[in-house]
Amino acid sequence: MKRRTFIKTASASGLACTLPPILPNMYDPDYSTAELMGKADIELFGEGINLKKEAYESFLEMKKAAYADGFDIQMVSSYRDFYHQERIWERKYVRFTEDGMSPLEAIDKIIEYSTIPGTSRHHWGTDIDIIDGNPKVTGGVLDPDKFEAGGPFEEFKGWLDENSTKYGFYLVYTNNPRRRGFKYEPWHYSYASISIPMLTEYRKLNILKLMQKENFLGSEHFTTGFIKTYVQDNILDINPVLL
Ligand SMILES: [Zn+2]
Repeated sequence: MKRRTFIKTASASGLACTLPPILPNMYDPDYSTAELMGKADIELFGEGINLKKEAYESFLEMKKAAYADGFDIQMVSSYRDFYHQERIWERKYVRFTEDGMSPLEAIDKIIEYSTIPGTSRHHWGTDIDIIDGNPKVTGGVLDPDKFEAGGPFEEFKGWLDENSTKYGFYLVYTNNPRRRGFKYEPWHYSYASISIPMLTEYRKLNILKLMQKENFLGSEHFTTGFIKTYVQDNILDINPVLL
């Protein structure tokens, strides 16, 4: 019995050492439309972390390694359900239209950084927005300039560039100047071995049809062309490693 346990443990750790960082998802990737849209009650792990099990475990490993190197990874945002995203969307929609923007201008402004409810990678329990809790920061923390040279997260960014993929986390919205869709988000990482199969399933959905069933502020202005471009640019024009 003991020997069998030993063999099992030994082969499992051997496997972990030899496989590339993105492990193919071996269990049933049968994600429901509700789960892909953030409307399902999914099991999440870690207080204040809220990720799917495997992503949570890898996140803890990364956090530990970062800590040893002098960085205190803080989760700014991880899992968000559809209704949370809907509140973010509607708050911005009201603010921008009250500022005098037309509905279409407001929508274009919102989707610089925020997703349409039901289309966020934060619905999946695989994606995180992180910062370093050590430096003193004034103003908003999710600001690309803060991760640049001279910014409070410059060294943390360097650490992530070198280490995040060892733990299976990849930058989603890169600073590639040819990339369209969401702007550069140096804080947003995705746990690839789960999010890749989830995106594969997500791509099979009819987003236009699903959006036409929704009834949040501004959704009546979505046209076929708008949704088509949004899917191409905002959902699919990401770090190609994650496709
Ligand atoms: Zn994010």
